[in-house]
Order: sequence, then C-alpha cells, then structure tokens
Amino acid sequence: MKLVSLRGLIVIPFVLLAALAGTTIYLFSNVTLSNVSDNVGLHYIREVENRVNDRVTAFMAPLSILAELNRDAITHHPEWLDNLDLLAGRFYEQAIPYPYVTFISLATAADGRYVNSTRAPFGTTSHHVATNYTSRPGQLEAFEYDPIHYVGRRIESEPVYENYDPRTRPFYLDAVRKGDTAWSRITPYYGYQSLGVGLSVPIYDTDRQLLAVMATSVALVALDSYLQSIELVDGAFVFLAEPNGDLIAASSNDPLYTNVDGVVQRVSLVSHQNPILREAAQQLEPGIHRIEVAGERYLYNIRPIELPYGQTWLIGVMIPDAYYQNMLSDFSEGLLVMVAMIFISIALVGSLIARFIGVPIMRLNNAVNADSLRQIGALPNSLSHVREIHSLGQGLKGMASELSDILQNLEQKVAQRTSQLKDENEVLLEQSTTDELTGLYNRRGFNVLSEQALQRAEHDHESFALVLCDIDHFKHVNDSLGHSVGDKALHAVAKVLKGHFRSQDMIARYGGEEFMLVLVGISQQELMERLQNVRQTLSNKPILQEMPITLSFGMTYLASIQDMSLADLIHDVDSKLYQAKNTGRDKIIF
Ligand code: GH3
Ligand code: MG
Ligand code: MG
Repeated sequence: MKLVSLRGLIVIPFVLLAALAGTTIYLFSNVTLSNVSDNVGLHYIREVENRVNDRVTAFMAPLSILAELNRDAITHHPEWLDNLDLLAGRFYEQAIPYPYVTFISLATAADGRYVNSTRAPFGTTSHHVATNYTSRPGQLEAFEYDPIHYVGRRIESEPVYENYDPRTRPFYLDAVRKGDTAWSRITPYYGYQSLGVGLSVPIYDTDRQLLAVMATSVALVALDSYLQSIELVDGAFVFLAEPNGDLIAASSNDPLYTNVDGVVQRVSLVSHQNPILREAAQQLEPGIHRIEVAGERYLYNIRPIELPYGQTWLIGVMIPDAYYQNMLSDFSEGLLVMVAMIFISIALVGSLIARFIGVPIMRLNNAVNADSLRQIGALPNSLSHVREIHSLGQGLKGMASELSDILQNLEQKVAQRTSQLKDENEVLLEQSTTDELTGLYNRRGFNVLSEQALQRAEHDHESFALVLCDIDHFKHVNDSLGHSVGDKALHAVAKVLKGHFRSQDMIARYGGEEFMLVLVGISQQELMERLQNVRQTLSNKPILQEMPITLSFGMTYLASIQDMSLADLIHDVDSKLYQAKNTGRDKIIF
C-alpha cells in the first residue's frame, strides 16, 4: 500500500489549488481585459454608428420619397406637365415638412420648361418657386409663392439666368444618361455654408418616352451639425465620408470645403489638417482597424451606409484607448482584490486545516510512535478543537493509561514472583546442599564449596587444609543399639565438630559416618589443637552411655596452594584416614 503523508496531502493540493486559481485568474484576466477593452470600445463605436446610420438614413429618405412620389404620379398623369403652375405648388408644399430639402424641381424633355421649389438652408432666404417659362420665357426667374396661382410676384433680388435650358444641367444629363435615378456629386452650395447632394430621376411615359427629369436636393449641413452635436468621449471622432475619402460631415468643427481664389474644393480625409483623420484615411475598408497617432492608440471602425440607388457612404468612428483605460484600471484593481481575497481564503483554509487537523494528527502520530506510553499520556487535553480528533486523542490517552496500569501491575507481579522464586531457589539450593540428619553440608554441598574454597585460598595466598574423619566401629553402634540411636550419635558428632571450628570453616557429611572439613587461612598448629579438642570433648563428654564414640582423622595441610587438584587432596586424606584405621583408630594421621 502506498502511503501519503498528511503534510503532502494538505500542502500539495493547496499549492496546486493556489497555482490553478492564480493561472486561471491570470489567463482569465488577460483574455478578459483585452476582450473587455475591445468589446467596450466596439460597443461604444457600434452605438455611435447606429445613431449616425439611423440619422443619415432618415435624413436622406425624403429625397427618394419625393423623387419616387412625383415620378410615379407624373408617369400616370403626363398632362400635369402642361400646367407647371400646379407642379410648382405641389413641390412647394412637398418641401414644407423637410427644412433641409433645398430643391424639388422638374424639367420637361420636350421643350426644356423648368419649375422648382427652392430655399436655402437655415431659412436665410424665402421659400419660393422658380421657373423659366413665365414672365420672360427662356429666363429662369424667382417668384414668391402664391397659394392660389402658386407663381406669385417676381423676386427682384433673385438673379436671372438668360436662355436657361435645364436640359444642359448636370442633374438632367446624369439622369438621362443613366436612364434611371441618379445621385449628383456632393458639392458646396454656392454662397452657403453647406454641402448639398441631389437625386434626379428620369420620368418616362408608359411607352418609355422621356417626359421629364425631376430632381430633389438636400443641404448636408444638418448632418455636419448633427455629428458635432453627438456627445463623444474625449479624443473620439466620428465622420461621414464618401468612399474616396471626401468628407461629408465630421464631429470636429473643421470646414468641409475650401474656397481659394474662387476655387471651391472639398476637404478630403486624405489631406485633412488633422493628422488623426489623415491616418484614418489610410484605412477606409469596412471593419475594425487600429491606428496610432502621436503615441495615442485608437480603435477605429468603418461602416458603410447603403443609400438607395447604389450610393454608399462611410461612417467612421474612432475612440482613443485612453477611453477604457481608466475603466480597465478600475477593473484590474477589482480583479487584484479578488485574487488577493481568493489567495487569502485558500491560505486561511489551509492553515485552519493544518492547525486543527494536520498538527494534532502529527502530534498524535509522534506520540503513538514514541518509545514510551508516557508520550501519549502527556498529550494535552486541548489537542484539537475538531471533535473527532479530540475524541481520538482522549481515547488514545485512556488506552495508554489503562495499558500503563496493566504494565505496572504486571511488573509488580513479575517482581513479586521473581523474589519468591529466588527465595524458593535459595531454599532448594540449601536443601540440595544440606544433609538432613546433621544439618551439615552434604556431599553435593562439599563438591560445590570445596572447589571455591581452594580457589579462594590460592587467590588470597592463604593456607588450605582438608580433614576427613570417620566414626570408629559405627556398625557396631547400629548393630547393638539400633539404627535410630546411630542417627542420634551421628547428629551429636556433627554438633561436636561444629562446636570446635570457626564459622567460616566448612564441615560436610561426606559419606554415611564420614565427615570432611575444609579450612582456609588456619595455621597447622591451631588446626591440630582444634582436632585434639574434638577428640578430648568426645572422650570427656561421651555421646552414648553404652559405649564410647571415637573418630579417626586423615589430614592434609598446605601452607600455600600451587596447582593442587582437589581430587589429589581428597585421595591423600582418604589414604591417611585408611592408615589411621589400620593402625588402631582414634588418631590423627597427617
Ligand atoms: P571402622 O572402624 O572400620 O570404620 O568400622 P565401622 O563399623 O564403622 O565400618 P563400616 O564402614 O563397615 O561401617 C559403617 C557403618 O555405618 C555401616 C552402617 O550401618 C553405618 N551407617 C552408615 N550411615 C548410617 C546412618 O545414617 N545411620 C546409622 N544409624 N548408621 C549408619
Ligand atoms: Mg566408614
Ligand atoms: Mg567407621
């Protein structure tokens, strides 16, 4: 089973999570910021464009409405051409709702008669009618409008054109040449601060015979003032231009045409005095463009306006990047705060988990894996505020204390049992080395202790003596007085022997009625005295009334030990005892 550390489990996912959040936000913000900037810019541009488009479309609509209205009417009422007064009144009235419609005119194909309703933009002159067929035929003259006869009093101030034949005018020729509705060029109105444009339409009868050409014109100054009236953000531009770059209207208050020494010229974006508009002239294809002028970047869009009869104008809108930079910096700050808050939250959750889960579990783990149960017992009660970990800690502490009690108990019991066993062992050892009848060491006790005594004497450079003694004619004691008396006699002899030697001297019952004495650090003289004293005591204080008890002794004495084997010494005392037996008994041979 593969194990994962708690630290790894907590730290790694949190680091990954933080990295993921950071990357996501970074990518999101980058993508979003650039998208937002373009979207905000484009949204703004589209809104301006829509307004301009609607305004221009609505503004230009009367031209085609009036042209088509009159064309269709006259096609079906060619007799109206016989009474141009009627048309003069009709045109005059048709112009009233449209203050920027400057001309509504008609020229007959057959004889070049001409009538129009005319006025200058801004209402600077009276709205009047003009014809070339009334008071002086062939001359174009202006008349006040008269609601009954339409052509009223002649206006003296109006210039008079001699031999005026409208069929030589561009509006007429353009329409005839095209055989269909035709736009005029956009030109400045002579004497007025406005550009104008006209739409002329050839009128045919039902046999496709040209009857007349009808034309309408509009003063474009209204569009210029409209663009200037739009409230734009600082540094933004809106313009209306022809596809070749000639300006029709612009939000900047620059002239749209120049008059140098009587030569009137349209102003074009291409050669405009404003470098931004000049730069814009390089990008007149419909669509989004980015331009940069004097370090200022602009988002710029060209949108075509399709007017009827194949006329296309262009709406250009450009806004500086600075427009959304403020907004974006607000957004970036917001984003930064959001990122910081996410990271703080992650760190907070991480440290809470580490503090309330990770650290307590690691402490539990350390305590459990330590050598001593005491480490678990030493865990604080307030190990963790997490209920499960708290109860795990408490449970472990309980278990540890229980286990510790059990162990202590066990140790006590073991110690008790050990000392008991030791005591029992000692008893057993004593029993196994002690002769039951006499209380002296038995043969086994002699074997163990005599060897130790020999080594001790050798080590301490002490004398070493071995004495083997045997009760004389003991069989006779048994035979005559009984075995139990013999036992008592054996016990009494042992007591006498014990009474005559030092506590450190070892006395063992070596055989049935044989005793072995091991003496370390005793002089030969003292030993002899003590043995003689034993014999003396047995003689002076008889053990049995019936018969005396005597002992025969074989003794070997070594003032110092040098590579002596106990077996040799035993053999020696045994042969000396044998000698004592063979030479009359009750004596000491050494
Ligand atoms: P000697 O002087 O040659 O030693 O003669 P002895 O009779 O003592 O010789 P022997 O070794 O033949 O006899 C020893 C006797 O000691 C034989 C045995 O009945 C007796 N005896 C040995 N152990 C005990 C004992 O524990 N109790 C009693 N009552 N008698 C014992
Ligand atoms: Mg014997
Ligand atoms: Mg004997």
